[in-house]
Amino acid sequence: MSSTLATSTLTAATHGSALAATAHGIAQAATVALIVTVSIAFYLFTCLVWPFGKCCRCKGAGKFKSPFGNAYRHCGKCEGSGLRVRVGRKVINYYRRTRAGADNATSKGGRK
Ligand SMILES: [Zn+2]
Repeated sequence: MSSTLATSTLTAATHGSALAATAHGIAQAATVALIVTVSIAFYLFTCLVWPFGKCCRCKGAGKFKSPFGNAYRHCGKCEGSGLRVRVGRKVINYYRRTRAGADNATSKGGRK
């Protein structure tokens, strides 16, 4: 008898805490989603302002020195610039290109 009562109390308690845990989980997920969104937005913003990173093959030097004398050759990957376009900037460029393409398609012989 008392065990039934205890079980029902336990069930209610676990159910209540499960609800609380779910609400807590949703809040936590929302916080994580917010942090991720803000981080991505910040990263994309930095890619707008600073679109280039160091070339990973030549470490930003743009050239490889010969072990003899002062001879060197340009890095093949960055073609001597030492720069690499950051991934976020590639994403931005892709979206800009897509949007520009859509604009061109919709404004056939339109303004300008
Ligand atoms: Zn390079």
